[in-house]
Amino acid sequence: MSTDVRFLDSPLGWPLQHWDVDPQSGLLPGRHESLLRQRPEKYSEMVQGVTSFGIYLIDRSGVIRSWNRGAENITGYSRDDVVGESFQTLFVDEDVRAGVPRRTLEFARANRHARDEQRRGRAGGAHFTAQTTLDALRADSGELLGFVEVFQDITEAKQREERLYQRATRDPLTGVANRGHFSEMGTLEIERARRFAEPLSLLLMDIDHFKRVNDTHGHETGDRVIQRLAATCASHLRRIDLVARLGGEEFAVLLPRANKEPATEMAQRLRRLIAEQRVAIDGGREIAFTVSIGLASLRPTTRDLAELLRNADAALYKAKREGRNRVEVWFE
Ligand code: GH3
Ligand code: MG
Ligand code: MG
Repeated sequence: MSTDVRFLDSPLGWPLQHWDVDPQSGLLPGRHESLLRQRPEKYSEMVQGVTSFGIYLIDRSGVIRSWNRGAENITGYSRDDVVGESFQTLFVDEDVRAGVPRRTLEFARANRHARDEQRRGRAGGAHFTAQTTLDALRADSGELLGFVEVFQDITEAKQREERLYQRATRDPLTGVANRGHFSEMGTLEIERARRFAEPLSLLLMDIDHFKRVNDTHGHETGDRVIQRLAATCASHLRRIDLVARLGGEEFAVLLPRANKEPATEMAQRLRRLIAEQRVAIDGGREIAFTVSIGLASLRPTTRDLAELLRNADAALYKAKREGRNRVEVWFE
Protein backbone atom coordinates (compact mmCIF):
# COMPACT_ATOMS: atom_id res chain seq x y z
CA MET A 1 0.00 0.00 0.00
CA SER A 2 2.94 2.27 0.46
CA THR A 3 3.15 2.43 -3.34
CA ASP A 4 0.30 4.91 -3.04
CA VAL A 5 2.58 7.72 -2.06
CA ARG A 6 5.99 6.50 -3.16
CA PHE A 7 5.83 8.19 -6.53
CA LEU A 8 5.78 11.53 -4.81
CA ASP A 9 9.21 11.09 -3.29
CA SER A 10 10.03 12.80 -0.06
CA PRO A 11 9.92 15.21 1.63
CA LEU A 12 6.15 15.42 1.73
CA GLY A 13 5.48 19.01 2.57
CA TRP A 14 1.89 18.91 1.39
CA PRO A 15 -0.61 21.70 1.75
CA LEU A 16 -3.38 19.65 3.29
CA GLN A 17 -5.07 22.21 5.49
CA HIS A 18 -8.22 22.12 3.37
CA TRP A 19 -8.99 18.47 3.87
CA ASP A 20 -12.27 17.55 5.38
CA VAL A 21 -12.44 15.47 8.48
CA ASP A 22 -13.55 11.94 7.84
CA PRO A 23 -15.97 10.91 10.58
CA GLN A 24 -14.89 7.27 10.35
CA SER A 25 -11.14 7.60 10.45
CA GLY A 26 -11.11 10.82 12.43
CA LEU A 27 -8.36 12.14 10.18
CA LEU A 28 -7.77 15.78 10.91
CA PRO A 29 -6.03 18.16 8.53
CA GLY A 30 -3.04 18.68 10.77
CA ARG A 31 -2.62 14.97 11.30
CA HIS A 32 -2.57 14.34 7.56
CA GLU A 33 0.50 16.43 7.14
CA SER A 34 2.54 15.21 10.07
CA LEU A 35 1.64 11.62 9.35
CA LEU A 36 2.59 12.01 5.73
CA ARG A 37 5.92 13.50 6.63
CA GLN A 38 6.78 11.00 9.31
CA ARG A 39 5.15 7.74 8.26
CA PRO A 40 4.00 7.72 4.65
CA GLU A 41 3.21 3.98 4.72
CA LYS A 42 1.01 4.39 7.79
CA TYR A 43 -0.69 7.35 6.20
CA SER A 44 -1.35 5.42 3.02
CA GLU A 45 -2.82 2.58 5.03
CA MET A 46 -5.22 4.89 6.84
CA VAL A 47 -6.32 6.59 3.65
CA GLN A 48 -6.83 3.23 2.02
CA GLY A 49 -9.22 2.26 4.81
CA VAL A 50 -11.35 5.40 4.57
CA THR A 51 -14.67 4.30 3.14
CA SER A 52 -16.87 7.37 2.85
CA PHE A 53 -14.41 9.69 1.11
CA GLY A 54 -12.61 9.00 -2.13
CA ILE A 55 -8.93 9.85 -1.69
CA TYR A 56 -6.40 9.33 -4.44
CA LEU A 57 -3.24 10.67 -5.99
CA ILE A 58 -2.66 11.97 -9.49
CA ASP A 59 0.85 12.44 -10.82
CA ARG A 60 1.91 15.64 -12.51
CA SER A 61 1.14 14.26 -15.96
CA GLY A 62 -2.47 13.62 -14.91
CA VAL A 63 -2.29 9.85 -14.38
CA ILE A 64 -4.13 8.30 -11.41
CA ARG A 65 -1.62 6.66 -9.05
CA SER A 66 -3.71 5.42 -6.13
CA TRP A 67 -7.34 4.72 -5.33
CA ASN A 68 -8.70 4.12 -1.85
CA ARG A 69 -11.67 2.08 -0.67
CA GLY A 70 -13.94 5.14 -0.47
CA ALA A 71 -13.23 5.90 -4.12
CA GLU A 72 -14.10 2.31 -5.00
CA ASN A 73 -17.33 2.46 -3.00
CA ILE A 74 -18.46 5.71 -4.51
CA THR A 75 -17.60 5.08 -8.15
CA GLY A 76 -17.76 1.31 -8.44
CA TYR A 77 -14.35 1.40 -10.13
CA SER A 78 -11.70 -0.83 -8.58
CA ARG A 79 -8.05 0.12 -8.22
CA ASP A 80 -7.20 -1.99 -11.24
CA ASP A 81 -9.77 -0.15 -13.30
CA VAL A 82 -8.33 3.30 -12.76
CA VAL A 83 -4.74 3.24 -11.45
CA GLY A 84 -2.55 4.05 -14.45
CA GLU A 85 -5.42 5.71 -16.29
CA SER A 86 -5.84 9.41 -16.99
CA PHE A 87 -7.67 11.68 -14.52
CA GLN A 88 -10.17 12.42 -17.29
CA THR A 89 -11.52 8.86 -17.30
CA LEU A 90 -13.39 9.80 -14.11
CA PHE A 91 -15.42 12.43 -15.96
CA VAL A 92 -18.45 12.11 -18.23
CA ASP A 93 -17.70 12.42 -21.97
CA GLU A 94 -19.47 15.73 -22.38
CA ASP A 95 -17.36 17.37 -19.67
CA VAL A 96 -14.16 15.87 -21.11
CA ARG A 97 -15.04 17.40 -24.47
CA ALA A 98 -15.68 20.73 -22.74
CA GLY A 99 -12.19 20.54 -21.19
CA VAL A 100 -13.30 20.29 -17.55
CA PRO A 101 -10.60 17.83 -16.34
CA ARG A 102 -7.81 19.77 -18.04
CA ARG A 103 -9.01 23.07 -16.63
CA THR A 104 -9.41 21.55 -13.17
CA LEU A 105 -5.79 20.41 -13.04
CA GLU A 106 -4.58 23.73 -14.47
CA PHE A 107 -6.53 25.61 -11.84
CA ALA A 108 -5.12 23.45 -9.03
CA ARG A 109 -1.62 23.84 -10.42
CA ALA A 110 -1.91 27.62 -10.54
CA ASN A 111 -3.78 28.13 -7.26
CA ARG A 112 -2.57 25.04 -5.37
CA HIS A 113 -6.15 24.27 -4.48
CA ALA A 114 -9.39 23.68 -6.40
CA ARG A 115 -12.72 23.04 -4.73
CA ASP A 116 -15.67 22.22 -6.97
CA GLU A 117 -18.85 20.30 -7.56
CA GLN A 118 -18.42 18.08 -10.58
CA ARG A 119 -20.29 15.45 -12.50
CA ARG A 120 -18.39 12.18 -12.40
CA GLY A 121 -19.03 8.80 -13.95
CA ARG A 122 -19.73 5.55 -12.13
CA ALA A 123 -18.81 2.12 -13.42
CA GLY A 124 -21.74 1.09 -15.61
CA GLY A 125 -22.34 4.53 -17.06
CA ALA A 126 -24.38 6.34 -14.39
CA HIS A 127 -23.41 9.82 -13.17
CA PHE A 128 -23.09 11.28 -9.70
CA THR A 129 -22.36 14.69 -8.26
CA ALA A 130 -19.02 14.85 -6.49
CA GLN A 131 -17.85 17.49 -4.12
CA THR A 132 -14.15 17.61 -4.90
CA THR A 133 -11.08 19.13 -3.28
CA LEU A 134 -7.93 18.94 -5.32
CA ASP A 135 -4.61 20.04 -3.83
CA ALA A 136 -1.36 20.41 -5.73
CA LEU A 137 1.53 18.62 -4.06
CA ARG A 138 4.85 20.40 -4.21
CA ALA A 139 8.28 19.49 -2.93
CA ASP A 140 10.02 21.94 -0.61
CA SER A 141 11.89 23.14 -3.71
CA GLY A 142 8.52 24.17 -5.17
CA GLU A 143 8.58 21.51 -7.85
CA LEU A 144 5.15 20.08 -8.68
CA LEU A 145 4.90 16.44 -7.62
CA GLY A 146 1.29 15.76 -8.42
CA PHE A 147 -2.15 16.22 -6.92
CA VAL A 148 -4.27 14.68 -4.23
CA GLU A 149 -8.04 14.70 -4.54
CA VAL A 150 -10.59 14.07 -1.81
CA PHE A 151 -14.15 13.60 -3.04
CA GLN A 152 -17.54 12.79 -1.69
CA ASP A 153 -20.79 11.70 -3.32
CA ILE A 154 -23.27 14.52 -2.71
CA THR A 155 -25.89 13.40 -5.26
CA GLU A 156 -28.60 12.67 -2.70
CA ALA A 157 -27.94 15.81 -0.70
CA LYS A 158 -28.15 17.88 -3.90
CA GLN A 159 -31.42 16.24 -4.91
CA ARG A 160 -32.89 16.74 -1.47
CA GLU A 161 -31.79 20.35 -1.49
CA GLU A 162 -33.34 20.85 -4.94
CA ARG A 163 -36.64 19.26 -3.85
CA LEU A 164 -36.80 21.43 -0.74
CA TYR A 165 -35.99 24.53 -2.78
CA GLN A 166 -38.72 23.70 -5.33
CA ARG A 167 -41.23 23.04 -2.57
CA ALA A 168 -40.38 26.27 -0.81
CA THR A 169 -40.36 28.52 -3.88
CA ARG A 170 -42.80 26.99 -6.41
CA ASP A 171 -46.55 26.88 -6.69
CA PRO A 172 -47.45 23.17 -6.90
CA LEU A 173 -50.30 23.55 -9.42
CA THR A 174 -48.39 25.54 -12.04
CA GLY A 175 -44.69 25.21 -11.22
CA VAL A 176 -44.16 28.99 -11.37
CA ALA A 177 -42.89 30.97 -8.39
CA ASN A 178 -45.15 31.18 -5.34
CA ARG A 179 -46.07 34.35 -3.51
CA GLY A 180 -43.28 34.06 -0.94
CA HIS A 181 -40.57 33.65 -3.54
CA PHE A 182 -42.04 36.48 -5.57
CA SER A 183 -41.90 38.83 -2.58
CA GLU A 184 -38.31 37.92 -1.91
CA MET A 185 -37.15 38.26 -5.51
CA GLY A 186 -39.28 41.36 -6.11
CA THR A 187 -37.73 43.12 -3.13
CA LEU A 188 -34.22 42.24 -4.33
CA GLU A 189 -34.95 43.35 -7.90
CA ILE A 190 -36.34 46.66 -6.73
CA GLU A 191 -33.22 47.24 -4.65
CA ARG A 192 -31.01 46.40 -7.58
CA ALA A 193 -33.00 48.59 -9.98
CA ARG A 194 -32.68 51.50 -7.56
CA ARG A 195 -28.97 51.08 -7.04
CA PHE A 196 -28.18 50.91 -10.76
CA ALA A 197 -30.87 53.40 -11.78
CA GLU A 198 -32.53 50.81 -14.00
CA PRO A 199 -36.22 50.63 -14.89
CA LEU A 200 -38.47 47.85 -13.61
CA SER A 201 -42.12 47.06 -14.22
CA LEU A 202 -44.72 44.81 -12.71
CA LEU A 203 -47.76 43.19 -14.33
CA LEU A 204 -50.66 42.00 -12.26
CA MET A 205 -53.00 39.68 -14.13
CA ASP A 206 -56.37 38.13 -13.27
CA ILE A 207 -58.48 35.74 -15.36
CA ASP A 208 -61.72 37.28 -16.57
CA HIS A 209 -65.01 35.75 -15.38
CA PHE A 210 -63.19 32.77 -14.00
CA LYS A 211 -66.07 31.81 -11.76
CA ARG A 212 -68.03 31.03 -14.92
CA VAL A 213 -65.30 28.64 -16.12
CA ASN A 214 -65.50 26.77 -12.81
CA ASP A 215 -69.29 26.85 -12.70
CA THR A 216 -69.79 25.75 -16.32
CA HIS A 217 -66.95 23.28 -16.83
CA GLY A 218 -65.89 22.26 -13.34
CA HIS A 219 -63.05 23.04 -11.02
CA GLU A 220 -60.67 20.64 -12.77
CA THR A 221 -61.03 22.46 -16.06
CA GLY A 222 -60.52 25.67 -14.11
CA ASP A 223 -57.24 24.27 -12.84
CA ARG A 224 -56.14 23.42 -16.36
CA VAL A 225 -56.92 26.97 -17.48
CA ILE A 226 -54.76 28.28 -14.63
CA GLN A 227 -51.96 25.93 -15.68
CA ARG A 228 -52.20 27.01 -19.30
CA LEU A 229 -52.05 30.65 -18.30
CA ALA A 230 -48.90 30.06 -16.25
CA ALA A 231 -47.24 28.04 -19.04
CA THR A 232 -48.07 30.70 -21.63
CA CYS A 233 -46.53 33.43 -19.50
CA ALA A 234 -43.47 31.36 -18.60
CA SER A 235 -42.69 30.42 -22.20
CA HIS A 236 -43.05 33.89 -23.69
CA LEU A 237 -40.96 35.98 -21.36
CA ARG A 238 -37.28 36.80 -21.08
CA ARG A 239 -35.08 34.69 -18.82
CA ILE A 240 -34.73 37.58 -16.40
CA ASP A 241 -38.50 37.94 -15.92
CA LEU A 242 -40.26 36.26 -13.04
CA VAL A 243 -43.78 34.81 -13.23
CA ALA A 244 -45.55 34.07 -9.98
CA ARG A 245 -48.94 32.80 -8.91
CA LEU A 246 -50.00 35.09 -6.13
CA GLY A 247 -53.09 33.01 -5.39
CA GLY A 248 -56.27 31.68 -7.04
CA GLU A 249 -56.29 32.88 -10.64
CA GLU A 250 -54.13 35.91 -10.02
CA PHE A 251 -50.59 36.13 -11.37
CA ALA A 252 -47.78 38.67 -11.24
CA VAL A 253 -44.95 39.14 -13.69
CA LEU A 254 -41.84 41.06 -12.71
CA LEU A 255 -40.09 42.71 -15.65
CA PRO A 256 -36.63 43.92 -14.61
CA ARG A 257 -34.95 46.48 -16.88
CA ALA A 258 -38.21 47.32 -18.65
CA ASN A 259 -39.80 50.73 -18.39
CA LYS A 260 -43.41 51.53 -19.12
CA GLU A 261 -43.23 51.37 -22.95
CA PRO A 262 -41.64 47.96 -23.48
CA ALA A 263 -43.55 46.60 -20.48
CA THR A 264 -46.83 47.72 -22.06
CA GLU A 265 -45.85 46.00 -25.30
CA MET A 266 -44.99 42.81 -23.41
CA ALA A 267 -48.28 42.97 -21.52
CA GLN A 268 -50.28 43.42 -24.72
CA ARG A 269 -48.43 40.58 -26.42
CA LEU A 270 -49.10 38.30 -23.45
CA ARG A 271 -52.76 39.30 -23.35
CA ARG A 272 -53.20 38.44 -27.04
CA LEU A 273 -51.30 35.16 -26.71
CA ILE A 274 -53.46 34.15 -23.78
CA ALA A 275 -56.66 34.95 -25.69
CA GLU A 276 -55.43 32.66 -28.49
CA GLN A 277 -55.03 29.67 -26.15
CA ARG A 278 -57.55 26.82 -26.32
CA VAL A 279 -58.07 24.34 -23.52
CA ALA A 280 -59.68 21.00 -24.43
CA ILE A 281 -62.76 19.96 -22.48
CA ASP A 282 -65.04 16.91 -22.62
CA GLY A 283 -66.67 16.00 -25.91
CA GLY A 284 -63.78 17.24 -28.04
CA ARG A 285 -64.71 20.84 -27.41
CA GLU A 286 -62.37 23.67 -26.53
CA ILE A 287 -62.68 26.78 -24.41
CA ALA A 288 -60.91 30.10 -24.59
CA PHE A 289 -60.21 32.55 -21.78
CA THR A 290 -58.92 36.08 -21.36
CA VAL A 291 -57.07 38.08 -18.73
CA SER A 292 -57.05 41.66 -17.57
CA ILE A 293 -53.66 43.18 -16.78
CA GLY A 294 -52.62 46.09 -14.59
CA LEU A 295 -49.13 47.51 -15.13
CA ALA A 296 -47.05 49.67 -12.80
CA SER A 297 -43.48 50.84 -13.32
CA LEU A 298 -40.94 51.77 -10.67
CA ARG A 299 -40.65 55.49 -10.05
CA PRO A 300 -38.14 57.36 -7.88
CA THR A 301 -40.87 57.82 -5.29
CA THR A 302 -41.97 54.16 -5.17
CA ARG A 303 -41.16 52.96 -1.67
CA ASP A 304 -41.31 49.18 -1.95
CA LEU A 305 -42.79 46.11 -3.62
CA ALA A 306 -46.04 46.51 -1.69
CA GLU A 307 -46.52 49.96 -3.17
CA LEU A 308 -45.75 48.74 -6.69
CA LEU A 309 -48.28 45.93 -6.22
CA ARG A 310 -50.91 48.39 -4.97
CA ASN A 311 -50.36 50.54 -8.04
CA ALA A 312 -50.60 47.58 -10.41
CA ASP A 313 -53.74 46.42 -8.59
CA ALA A 314 -55.37 49.81 -9.09
CA ALA A 315 -54.59 49.58 -12.83
CA LEU A 316 -55.97 46.01 -12.91
CA TYR A 317 -59.17 47.19 -11.25
CA LYS A 318 -59.50 49.80 -13.98
CA ALA A 319 -58.91 47.19 -16.71
CA LYS A 320 -61.74 45.09 -15.24
CA ARG A 321 -64.08 48.05 -14.99
CA GLU A 322 -63.41 49.17 -18.54
CA GLY A 323 -64.42 45.89 -20.08
CA ARG A 324 -61.76 43.18 -19.31
CA ASN A 325 -59.33 41.50 -21.77
CA ARG A 326 -57.29 44.68 -21.68
CA VAL A 327 -54.13 46.27 -20.26
CA GLU A 328 -54.22 49.39 -18.12
CA VAL A 329 -51.16 51.32 -17.00
CA TRP A 330 -50.99 52.95 -13.59
CA PHE A 331 -50.12 56.63 -13.43
CA GLU A 332 -50.25 59.13 -10.62
P1 GH3 B 1 -63.38 38.86 -12.77
O1 GH3 B 1 -63.41 38.94 -14.25
O2 GH3 B 1 -63.94 40.06 -12.10
O3 GH3 B 1 -62.04 38.54 -12.25
O4 GH3 B 1 -64.35 37.67 -12.41
P2 GH3 B 1 -64.01 36.30 -11.74
O5 GH3 B 1 -65.16 35.38 -11.92
O6 GH3 B 1 -62.71 35.79 -12.25
O7 GH3 B 1 -63.91 36.75 -10.26
P3 GH3 B 1 -62.79 36.49 -9.21
O8 GH3 B 1 -61.49 36.85 -9.80
O9 GH3 B 1 -63.18 37.19 -7.97
O10 GH3 B 1 -62.97 34.94 -9.01
C1 GH3 B 1 -61.97 34.10 -8.66
C2 GH3 B 1 -62.50 32.69 -8.71
O11 GH3 B 1 -61.42 31.80 -8.91
C3 GH3 B 1 -63.16 32.29 -7.44
C4 GH3 B 1 -62.63 30.90 -7.12
O12 GH3 B 1 -63.67 29.98 -7.10
C5 GH3 B 1 -61.73 30.56 -8.30
N1 GH3 B 1 -60.50 29.95 -7.89
C6 GH3 B 1 -59.56 30.42 -7.03
N2 GH3 B 1 -58.52 29.57 -6.93
C7 GH3 B 1 -58.78 28.53 -7.76
C8 GH3 B 1 -58.09 27.32 -8.10
O13 GH3 B 1 -56.99 27.04 -7.62
N3 GH3 B 1 -58.67 26.50 -9.01
C9 GH3 B 1 -59.88 26.79 -9.57
N4 GH3 B 1 -60.37 25.93 -10.46
N5 GH3 B 1 -60.56 27.90 -9.26
C10 GH3 B 1 -60.04 28.77 -8.37
MG1 MG C 1 -59.36 37.03 -8.91
MG1 MG D 1 -60.91 36.79 -12.03
